[in-house]
Amino acid sequence: MVTGVLDAGAIPATGDDGTEDASVLSREVAIPLIDLRKVSRTFVTDGGVEVKALREVDLKIYPGEFVAIVGQSGSGKSTMMNILGCLDRPNSGKYIFAGRDIESFDSDGLAWLRREAFGFVFQSYNLLATESAEENVAVPGIYAGLSSAERELRSQSLLSSLGLGDRMDHRPNQLSGGQQQRVSIARAMMNGGNIILADEPTGALDSRSGEEVMALLKDLNEKGHTIILITHEPYIAEHADRTIEIQDGRIVSDSGPTEGAINPEKNKGLRELFMSRKTASLIGGLNEAVRMALRSLMANAFRTFLTLLGIVIGVSSVVALLAIGQGAQSGIVERISSIGTNVLNLQPDRAEGQRRNIPSTLTFEDSDAIEVGVPNVSYSLPRVSGNMTIRHGHEDHSAEVIATLDTVPEAKSWPLARGVFFTREDSDKFTPVAVLGATVYDELFPDGRDPLGEWVLLRNIPFQVIGVLTRKGASGNTDQDDAIYVPLKAGATRLFGAQYASRIEVMVDDVTRISETEDDLVAFMTDRHDGVEDFRIFNAAQLLSTLEETQATLRIFLGAVGGIALLVGGIGVMNIMLVSVTERTREIGVRMATGARQRDILMQFLAEAIVVSLIGGILGVGLGFGVGTLLEAVPNIDINVVYTSTPAIIAFTCAAATGLIFGFAPARKAARLDPVVALSNE
Ligand code: ADP
Ligand code: MG
Repeated sequence: MVTGVLDAGAIPATGDDGTEDASVLSREVAIPLIDLRKVSRTFVTDGGVEVKALREVDLKIYPGEFVAIVGQSGSGKSTMMNILGCLDRPNSGKYIFAGRDIESFDSDGLAWLRREAFGFVFQSYNLLATESAEENVAVPGIYAGLSSAERELRSQSLLSSLGLGDRMDHRPNQLSGGQQQRVSIARAMMNGGNIILADEPTGALDSRSGEEVMALLKDLNEKGHTIILITHEPYIAEHADRTIEIQDGRIVSDSGPTEGAINPEKNKGLRELFMSRKTASLIGGLNEAVRMALRSLMANAFRTFLTLLGIVIGVSSVVALLAIGQGAQSGIVERISSIGTNVLNLQPDRAEGQRRNIPSTLTFEDSDAIEVGVPNVSYSLPRVSGNMTIRHGHEDHSAEVIATLDTVPEAKSWPLARGVFFTREDSDKFTPVAVLGATVYDELFPDGRDPLGEWVLLRNIPFQVIGVLTRKGASGNTDQDDAIYVPLKAGATRLFGAQYASRIEVMVDDVTRISETEDDLVAFMTDRHDGVEDFRIFNAAQLLSTLEETQATLRIFLGAVGGIALLVGGIGVMNIMLVSVTERTREIGVRMATGARQRDILMQFLAEAIVVSLIGGILGVGLGFGVGTLLEAVPNIDINVVYTSTPAIIAFTCAAATGLIFGFAPARKAARLDPVVALSNE
């Protein structure tokens, strides 16, 4: 549509309907700037009543005229003005603008025309209250794609030429009525203001300011601008060269164009009107939209803060809850995996239906048989263990005493720090030797002396220290280093008086086949125990995967809670954006009148929603980390927090998406406003 506009050669083409324009080029008849042909505009009120505001109006206005349209209130002047300025379309009839039928313009095309050709001056000035005089004047330049430096320069020179050089930074409410009207005239001229449409420009002014404004318009007319002035005051109309009187939607008198107004030499200028075309670039437009968004958000700081709060709470709950969930999981996982995911723990258990007084047993031979007979088993370690006081000289220490096999260092990949581990032979010969865990060594030999060859007392039985294990750390809730190892048989008989293992640790070779091995082990042991399953197996790997499943559920749950908070935040954004659109309807109208396209308005409001959500997202991620860290620091609660960047990125992205999604409906509502309706909004 708009590309057609650019094609200046097509200007006479509108003459195919057989009017005089068909031969414009050959005879060089003056092309009217504005040509209304039987234009009617009918409104239907809410009550269903038809109001004929314009009835079959024919009117030609030529470039450079100064026309006053007069008539009583309600006669249809503003309706005519809106149609002339392409803010509104006729219901019937044709509007030929500089040789082009307006009907062929879509809404972007009309926006372009308003921007390039028209400048509006309103009775109530319609300046943006939050912007300075200079910024108000510059608004149409935004939509014409001028850079901010170009806009500033032009705006300043316009204001200076209208005698407002010292009022550039003033807000509208810091200016008098006459000054505000001059600012609005400057704004009308920002993009050239070829045609200035002024609807009762002096209506709200005292007579002196009114005269000043009229003098200004007269001056502009002399410089070549076409002025169309609407007034109901005859003495104001006297300033114009031509007076058209309108009554009840009809032109009742027209003094006609002055001599020289109809001049074919001006045709060239009209064609050029369609040649210049600039539009805001996407990036420039975006930049501007974000700047305007920040401005408007700051203008309503408290409201913005409350809206932000919704998003901040949403995002921070996602981040904090997921971090806590992650922390809880990794804490438990760490404990379980430190027990060893390659270990099947075999413990005696009463089989179902077995009599209570028959103790269940796991023998040392069971263990040896498992090591040999069950596939995928690397080591099988029987143990008899219990807590005892260990004494060395004057030092006493209570620790776990573990009677087990010589294969511990290999089976658990646990090297010695000093000395050696006991051998199979030591066990068979009941040799009273012991290997200390690192913690036991620390407790019994606080001076750090070499313990090898020293004797410790267990139940008053002396055991000779032959080795010290390296430090291994905690397993589950127990300190693995707070233990002392003695040969299986020596320990079992001398210390515990037991012939049975309290536990058998079965080390699995290939962890991926651990479940299979567990099944084999059950079958093997049940078979050895005459078909009675008088034991149970604790499988850390199994437990881990079960745990991971529950944790995944927990994570989804926590994420959903955060998501709901974010949703509520999003609804808050939508709510406030709708309020903002309603409040700023007039501003939207002004922007449209000065050439903003629907997409410019859409982008502006969308930018506002996204900016507020992104700020909320950033603050929310920060707060989420903060809250998590704070909770972790509270001494009496055992909360472990693990931050991963994923939930933060997700939450932040969600916040931006929230702005986009919840901001879209209000922004579209704004963009689809009818400029006339928007402008007449109180
Ligand atoms: P003027 O500017 O000369 O005072 P208007 O052009 O504003 O007059 O209005 C002309 C007539 O059209 C009036 O009777 C007015 O009530 C009616 N009118 C204008 N706009 C609307 C509208 N949007 N809906 C219904 N009636 C309207
Ligand atoms: Mg009016």
